[in-house]
Amino acid sequence: MPNGYMGKVLWVNLTDGTFKEEDVQEELYRQYLGGIGLAAKLIYENVPPKTDALSPESVFGFFPGLLTGTVAPLTGRFMVAGKSPLTKTWGDSNCGGYFGPEIKKCGYDAILIKGMANSPKYITILEDDKQILDASDLWGLDVVQTEDKLKEKHGSVQIASIGQAGENLSLISGIVNDKARVAGRSGFGAVMGSKKLKAIVLKGGKKITVSDKDALIQHTKDYNNGINTSTAAGILGYKTLGTTMGNEILFKIGDTPCKNWGGTKEDFPDDKLTKISGNEIDKYKEKPYGCFSCPVQCGAIMKVPEVDLEETHRPEYETCSSFGHLLLNDDLMSIFKANDICNRAGIDTISAGATIAFAIECYENNLISKDDTDGLELT
Ligand code: SF4
Repeated sequence: MPNGYMGKVLWVNLTDGTFKEEDVQEELYRQYLGGIGLAAKLIYENVPPKTDALSPESVFGFFPGLLTGTVAPLTGRFMVAGKSPLTKTWGDSNCGGYFGPEIKKCGYDAILIKGMANSPKYITILEDDKQILDASDLWGLDVVQTEDKLKEKHGSVQIASIGQAGENLSLISGIVNDKARVAGRSGFGAVMGSKKLKAIVLKGGKKITVSDKDALIQHTKDYNNGINTSTAAGILGYKTLGTTMGNEILFKIGDTPCKNWGGTKEDFPDDKLTKISGNEIDKYKEKPYGCFSCPVQCGAIMKVPEVDLEETHRPEYETCSSFGHLLLNDDLMSIFKANDICNRAGIDTISAGATIAFAIECYENNLISKDDTDGLELT
């Protein structure tokens, strides 16, 4: 029995509806470790040059890391990797939540998808039972509705799905788990949508063994104690505000772009900056949230009645900078709303804000007009 890794990956072929397990030799783990390393090896070997990312020949997969699913802190994350339809070359996207560890609990170091279904489908891997099921009634739903419906049917499971953006092959669409954890970069929502795959539903019960359990537990305790008892401003700030801790400071030190990368600090002065600060956002926090086996728990569930959001997730720093600084927008409510719309539809918030910023610059330089914006004054 290997330690840390499971020793095999699962291939799902959506064209003929088959599953195939592939053993992976220890030597490959020693060379590539798992996660993105294993992804690079397997994608490189199985995707011929010039493959269209949205064709049946295109392969993409979900790759937890070597330590994912163990108690080791900050390791509950996974990679989605394959060929990107956006850049037409290698693409990868990192994501948190609880989906990654479940892949290992199902007994795999990766789930790879190839082929193309001819009608909407979803995959279930429930313990050792694997099926490809009809997803006609899920097609058209957002990711929150999809998760709710699948949990009603399958109980306590982990789900990764696409929203309407992936179904419509938006090149800035992502794959979402835990209702708002998004593998947003590289356009993998469109890859999944092109294969007519709405969701993957997992429930596993396999144990992930480690070589020296006692030592791992002791190191984890030491690390977590360090985080939990730290009085360092950076750690306390991150635990409270998550990545929005950077909303003000990163702009002040010149790290955050503004006005479609063409502005200066004077374009977004302090009185605007403070309106979208981490502290302002934190006023709407209902409870903290985080990924599997993480002592930081940097996420948050929020309630924003001003824009009718009973339950939403805290926008990340990158989302705030994309819909805020980059657009010279200090309207916090619009950022909450845009974040929620994108998460539900499965759109990468960074790309969405950047696209709007580019459109605004085009509008202000008369390259596009109200004829192109449905009459919207795009400034
Ligand atoms: S909760 Fe935050 S700090 Fe912890 S693993 Fe997830 S993203 Fe990282």
